[in-house]
Amino acid sequence: MLPFKLVYSDDYYLPIGAHVFPAEKYRRIHDRLLETGVAEPSDFVTPQPASDQDVLLVHTPEYIHKLKTGTLSAREELEMEIPYSPELVQAFWLAAGGSILAADCALKNGVAFNIGGGFHHAFPDHGEGFCMVHDVAVAIRRMQRDDKITRAMTVDCDVHQGNGTAAIFAGMRVPTGPLPSTPASTLTPAAPAKVRNAQAGDVFTISLHQENNYPMWKPPSSIDVDLPDGIGDDDYLAWLDNALSSGLRQFDPELICYIAGADPYREDQLGGLALTIEGLKRRDQLVFRVAHARNIPVMVTFAGGYAQHLEDTVTIHCNTVIAAKEIFPAGV
Ligand SMILES: [Zn+2]
Repeated sequence: MLPFKLVYSDDYYLPIGAHVFPAEKYRRIHDRLLETGVAEPSDFVTPQPASDQDVLLVHTPEYIHKLKTGTLSAREELEMEIPYSPELVQAFWLAAGGSILAADCALKNGVAFNIGGGFHHAFPDHGEGFCMVHDVAVAIRRMQRDDKITRAMTVDCDVHQGNGTAAIFAGMRVPTGPLPSTPASTLTPAAPAKVRNAQAGDVFTISLHQENNYPMWKPPSSIDVDLPDGIGDDDYLAWLDNALSSGLRQFDPELICYIAGADPYREDQLGGLALTIEGLKRRDQLVFRVAHARNIPVMVTFAGGYAQHLEDTVTIHCNTVIAAKEIFPAGV
């Protein structure tokens, strides 16, 4: 039995037909974790859909009304890049409920997964890039509303910038100077990347992403690392190490929300970075090791993953669970 919970429902399946987003990946991850003995049936917990009040903590009443009544404009639906249906709305409300439950479990057990979620391109008033509702933001705002935390950090390692996250938590940010100098122990990446830093509100947002990729307009996160095309494992890990060290020098979160996208993978159809499956697992280990060393609970969501072979995407996501099992062998 795992020392942490995996939040999952068969109803995470997104009814979007033939689509580059592999909607069946959640079930495949669930099945693989059981088949390989990484998890047992009792490790899984079933979420309830988020309430409308929960979703309102992040999204505007007008947008929620449009979703509930099927009155998005053609342009709004196009921007979301997934076909609207009432069933799809239900799936997103469930994913948000899953992230709320995962955040709750993480605060109890040190780490927890939503075997879904990570819809980081959703904005308060509209959806984008396969994302309708920002489940991670809903979970953070719910934990804050329940007085379980005051400060959270998002660590977004999806290949695409977390534009919705940045916009939602922009708060009172003002641009600041360059990053403080990094300690000597920190690795120095060989490949150049642009690092942008802004002051955080109650949620500190870190995004490592490919610069030349969607979204074109990247609203400022607390730390953005704009990576060049084709970056490999070692440089990526060095930049991640730098960003985590810098972020945790500036901010003291009570919960880390790790958005563990599988799309920095070198065979991803929508990504232009060159990480290997092993490198992606080292990425997960780094995030978990840093959080564990500081006793910061971690809630994990899976976000994107568009490998040419679906099995690779499933492997990358399952490896994130295995990495947590290695780093948190007995919980925190
Ligand atoms: Zn992505």
